[in-house]
Amino acid sequence: MNSKELFDLAKNYIPGGVSSPVRAFKPYPFFAKRAKGSKIWDVDGKEYIDHCLAYGPLILGHSNDKVIGDVKKQLEIGTTYGVPSELEIKLAKMVVDRVPYVEMIRFVNSGTEATMAAIRLARGFTSKNKIIKFDGAYHGAHDYVLVKPGSGGMTSPDSLGIPKDTTKNTLSVPFNNEEAIETIVKENYEDVAAIILEPVMGNIGCVEPKTGFLKFLRALCDEYNILLIFDEVITGFRLSRGCAGEYFGVYPDLVTFGKIIGGGFPMGAFGGKKEIMENIAPSGSVYQAGTFNGNPISVTGGIATLNQLDYGFYKDLKDKGDFIRNRLVEFKDENLLKLQVVGLASMFQIYFNNEKVLNYEIAKKSDTDKFNSYFNHLLSNGVFIPPSQFECCFISNAHSDEDLENVVNTIEEAILKLK
Ligand SMILES: *Cc1c(COP(=O)(O)O)cnc(C)c1O
Repeated sequence: MNSKELFDLAKNYIPGGVSSPVRAFKPYPFFAKRAKGSKIWDVDGKEYIDHCLAYGPLILGHSNDKVIGDVKKQLEIGTTYGVPSELEIKLAKMVVDRVPYVEMIRFVNSGTEATMAAIRLARGFTSKNKIIKFDGAYHGAHDYVLVKPGSGGMTSPDSLGIPKDTTKNTLSVPFNNEEAIETIVKENYEDVAAIILEPVMGNIGCVEPKTGFLKFLRALCDEYNILLIFDEVITGFRLSRGCAGEYFGVYPDLVTFGKIIGGGFPMGAFGGKKEIMENIAPSGSVYQAGTFNGNPISVTGGIATLNQLDYGFYKDLKDKGDFIRNRLVEFKDENLLKLQVVGLASMFQIYFNNEKVLNYEIAKKSDTDKFNSYFNHLLSNGVFIPPSQFECCFISNAHSDEDLENVVNTIEEAILKLK
């Protein structure tokens, strides 16, 4: 069966034909047959250079040989144990050694679980109820954070099924706006447990914090006894060996991981200062548990991945990112087509927008019709990027110079068509 037939069939058994909403791009998504390195092949026989990379996890590209080798060995000796294994200590220690603000870590199964638990921990630790997030930030699919969320922009972001009572303690303010956050903190600080943010907003495209903004949040949290949580499900091990806190020089109290930390297998984690983390059960009374927590397959994938990520690796990835971004900037033409080329390290995106994108409000003004035609041109010409203006493109170390040259040439054609 081809992708179209499979999609029609899937719709009979799986809501919308997909297991996660952003995947349902129009007219129908291609169905994967296999993937290796920088490439993914569909059942229709087409090959794509992949800059979606499963929305972030695959910093080594698809099916990295070392990761697959180690995981195959682990498969032979157990897929899940229900008792602790030394592997968990090994990965925990690797994270603690690399990330200056992590002293202890708990492994869970997804980014969603990680933010859910980190928020509970912040509430338990501070004995306060409210959390503050930023408009357009995505922290997973659980109730507390589905207030003005980003991610994909494929569906209406305001989900049914979430009681107002559940979200009344979630406040949301515009990103990169010091006045807005300061005002809401001053009005609510007695009951604010945490400020949670994506240090780089990767779920409305790619929006960096203004210079000094993270430092400002750190100081605000210190002044009002509020925990600062970095949701690093995307930026963790993506921006730098020591994650976004190391990259920007500002350390949070708690951090959440997902995507890269499982090396292509399902996993999430949250960590931070020992004093806070020790409140997690069984050493403390903030409950968190999971049948598959610390799963040996995912943990092995994580170890085999993190082992390959040294400072030289990040320098090479940044060079690849700079190559793409510098070429994209050349395609700008202020008279015919306004473009904003954004990104850092191995993240990039183009906004079809007249303004510099500092927050969700501005991101939403992007011309999504133009984006869709850009996406479709790339797809028909063998380059797969996330199917939404409000996602971010990723680069892996498996992307060769030839891949990147092909990609920028294809992007140039797509942009010339739009002018
Ligand atoms: C993907 C993502 C999540 C959710 O992670 P899942 O593993 O999909 O549950 C949370 N926060 C951010 C910033 C993400 O990008």
